Amino acid sequence: MTQYEKHEAGQTIVDRLVREHHPHLEGALIACVITRTEGGDAKPKRPPKPGRKLKLAKASLVPKKFGPLMPHDFVIEFDGQLWAGLTLEQQEALCDHELMHCRYDMDTDAYYLADHDIEEFREIVVRHGLWKQDIRLFTETAQRSLFHETVTV
Ligand SMILES: [Zn+2]
Repeated sequence: MTQYEKHEAGQTIVDRLVREHHPHLEGALIACVITRTEGGDAKPKRPPKPGRKLKLAKASLVPKKFGPLMPHDFVIEFDGQLWAGLTLEQQEALCDHELMHCRYDMDTDAYYLADHDIEEFREIVVRHGLWKQDIRLFTETAQRSLFHETVTV
């Protein structure tokens, strides 16, 4: 059975990134946990099946019914084995990515989870090009990033 522990390193990065890039989350309680890699209970990762990816992390919204048990609004769970293989820059990017899922809706005064900007298969782009506006925007941003231009969003 997978065991979790508090992820202090991830929490430090997440708390800093909230201040730097996610001001809408300053009032949110975000808990970071990580799967245990010590004690021999973690099996080595098998390569994923085609069409599946290894899950580095996952942000979840804490249901309101858990409020009496835990005051958190979000929980971000990290995979301990995969986290250990990341550089510090990749760890920061991963934390930033997970925080992008964590949103606040002012109209309803409620937190929610956001989807990714794009959802597409590489082969569809090979066959059909940049056929949707969201794919075009993402590609343009990635190209500017490749040439180290300042990316404004
Ligand atoms: Zn994601």
